[in-house]
Amino acid sequence: MIPVQGVSGLKVLVLGMGRSGLVAAKALVAGGADVVCWDDSAPGRARAEEEGLVCADPLKGGLTGAAMLITSPGIAHLYPAPHPAIAEALKIGVPVDNDIGLFFRSFATRAWDHFDTPPRVVAVTGSNGKSTTSALIDHLLRHAGHQSQLAGNIGRGVLDLDPAEDGDVVVLELSSYQTELARCLTPDIAVFTNLSPDHLDRHAGPGGYFAAKRRLFAEGGPDRAVIGVDEIEGQFMAGQLADSLVDDRVIRISVSQKPADSGWWVTVKKGFLAETRKGKQVASIDLRGVAGLPGAHNHQNACAAYAVLRSLHVAPKVIEAGMHSFTGLPHRSQTVRELNGVTFVNDSKATNVDSAAKALGAFKNIRWICGGLQKEGGLSGLGDGTANVRKAYVIGREAEDFARQLPMDSAICSTMDAAVSQAHADAEPGDVVLLAPAAASFDQYNSFEARGDDFIALVNAL
Ligand code: ADP
Repeated sequence: MIPVQGVSGLKVLVLGMGRSGLVAAKALVAGGADVVCWDDSAPGRARAEEEGLVCADPLKGGLTGAAMLITSPGIAHLYPAPHPAIAEALKIGVPVDNDIGLFFRSFATRAWDHFDTPPRVVAVTGSNGKSTTSALIDHLLRHAGHQSQLAGNIGRGVLDLDPAEDGDVVVLELSSYQTELARCLTPDIAVFTNLSPDHLDRHAGPGGYFAAKRRLFAEGGPDRAVIGVDEIEGQFMAGQLADSLVDDRVIRISVSQKPADSGWWVTVKKGFLAETRKGKQVASIDLRGVAGLPGAHNHQNACAAYAVLRSLHVAPKVIEAGMHSFTGLPHRSQTVRELNGVTFVNDSKATNVDSAAKALGAFKNIRWICGGLQKEGGLSGLGDGTANVRKAYVIGREAEDFARQLPMDSAICSTMDAAVSQAHADAEPGDVVLLAPAAASFDQYNSFEARGDDFIALVNAL
């Protein structure tokens, strides 16, 4: 645990008793704060009370005298409308922060005065690929003999981390909700993978969404910024951050462009990753046999992780060997089984159109299981990947409406069970049955993990 600094004797209200809220409350107690907790749900409050924490309704005195309000990523703080407790805090001038802000102000301690290499923080944001990239960086660091800890949206709550030792690295996956609010945001290395529309209701549109992610670079002033430049937003940000054409603080990553004659680039062409500095290729690694990172989207993640590792002075060949032992994350391009020449792949995490399009682009002869709770913007944007689809098998409560928007032959299955058995019955050797829903899971499941687990269980039962 990282005790929060600078809160001794202060009253702090913690809103939301999920994983990160509970940890934040305990880290604040460890830092000497007088902590009051709240969750709108009774089970949430019960979780806090089980841990010996005190609950009080923020709108019935809980906020009185509070020096700050700490909130959780699942709670709206601005759009579409702030939670009433946050609205009240903003109205009466109580600062609103989150566990990420507390982490950055509390991570460095006097113990660091005795370290040869101060601990460093790598923060990863972007629309897609955050978890994969963060997990890959953590894996590569360990493989290279570094002490690494992984936290944030993935793994542990940030304040649950162990205090860092000499030379340690902490890898944080940060969502737009987290970067928008954190009052202190100072990673040593910041990564922006890519941008596509998501969570627009929480950011009042694409501009707000981009601005939330950009704060990691604008406010944080990282020593090194690793930026995906395959979209205009990344190009814009890289252009703003680099002082000159030879500025080494920015590493541009791309899977669709050639490196320019200036600057530091990491790119992929035909499965080969190249590091280029001032127009000269300085290293190259072969990604073609890396089973845990299939498809161009994963090669983008590989570029980002490679750039971070090079920034931490790890050799290209050591990085390459580490890539080969990366097995990928569950529910992201995860091969479940091969049966009579048919491969079954679980990409339940493809909850938006862009990530599903990337998954479709990574395979051929696809029997595509898709559908669920649709996101804003419909299915335009599926792109070229649909050419690889032989037939779609549509699940979800709105399966008919979903199917109507698809350009290919489709079957309305509604349930996962029906979709798996129909796709299996139709599939021929060489086909890939791919779950990449392009929609959220909440119409039929509690989470994308539950949806993916259902697919895995059904596939294993075939
Ligand atoms: P995040 O944490 O940003 O949601 P994940 O690594 O969990 O990212 O991947 C989410 C989904 O996006 C998965 O379906 C995955 O296959 C897909 N994906 C992974 N990396 C990328 C990328 N670089 N670009 C687009 N889609 C990606």
